[in-house]
Amino acid sequence: MGCSALSSKHLCGQAIAALAAAIVVMILFLGVIPAHASGKGNVGLPPQGILGIFGNGNECTVPPFSSGSPQSLELSWEDHGGPTIVSGNVLQRQASPITIIPDRPRLRVITYTVKPGDNVFALADKFGISVYTILWANEKLQGNPDLLRVGETLTILPVSGVYHTVKKGETVESIAKKYKVSPEAIVSFELNHLDKDHPTLKVGQKVIVPGGKKPPRPQIVHIPYVKIPKGARRGTGRFIWPTNGVITQRFWSGHKAIDIGAPVGTPVVASDSGYVVFASNGWNWGYGKLIIVDHGNGYRTYYAHLSSILVRKGESVGKGQRIGSVGTTGHSTGPHLHFEIRYHNIHKNPLLLLGR
Ligand SMILES: [Zn+2]
Repeated sequence: MGCSALSSKHLCGQAIAALAAAIVVMILFLGVIPAHASGKGNVGLPPQGILGIFGNGNECTVPPFSSGSPQSLELSWEDHGGPTIVSGNVLQRQASPITIIPDRPRLRVITYTVKPGDNVFALADKFGISVYTILWANEKLQGNPDLLRVGETLTILPVSGVYHTVKKGETVESIAKKYKVSPEAIVSFELNHLDKDHPTLKVGQKVIVPGGKKPPRPQIVHIPYVKIPKGARRGTGRFIWPTNGVITQRFWSGHKAIDIGAPVGTPVVASDSGYVVFASNGWNWGYGKLIIVDHGNGYRTYYAHLSSILVRKGESVGKGQRIGSVGTTGHSTGPHLHFEIRYHNIHKNPLLLLGR
């Protein structure tokens, strides 16, 4: 569909054609949104790859961005090959259905309340900032973007970068050096309200470091050690989809798994045959009810946030055998299966290993 015609580039270049396209798109848009807002069903996403944040009936409840005129919020999936959807306050407030997307950036730090079905990747996409910008600005998420809880608030910066609290003895230069940017980047960033000639910082003051980067934090990896008996079943080396649903979060550097959204109770099957080395109803570091299957060939698969577990530790399972049900236990914002494939404990992208 021609949704991409509504990008700002087109609006600048070919005004008349774009205006016509915009009207068409807006008509389509107005027809589409009520379906999402009802919270029913998922967008018909391809089985691999595309995010499904609207599929969970999410709505952005970000407060108005700045004083004065209302602004629109652009939600873009262009990076992922998906549709571009334009939404925001403007649609409700303006008489004209045609929305011109402002080129100027959002001008304040906002807080966002996590809704059912949200995930960090989709939120980053929604706000047009990097996923790490969200992780860095929200201490509790660092090292694990899956630690998102419904109802908690997140700090969302207007641009990608780091939100830094000034400590004793720090200067613009030292902060710039720490996050590998130029001092000018900090001083000239409007929201920091710094004197361009004599920037002074107070202890406790918050500054935005546009383009700043924090060093990666090693993630804690938990591998239960289990001696696998000789007679245990081994994998075939070919994996099948562990459940039916919509991919709500793909594999990326901060989320080395895929999330498959599906109703609570949807069967979860062993992706390959193997031996259950872990099956626990506990909290499990936020994984909730978790099963780990060792396939005897270096591979292990993880099935997390389950609502029920139908196998026990020490049991052999066949490929495709039902082992549990989709749930939302542990740290989870909605029913989904968090599925990992590890090879000698190195996370592999399940999408590359799963058969179609
Ligand atoms: Zn996940």
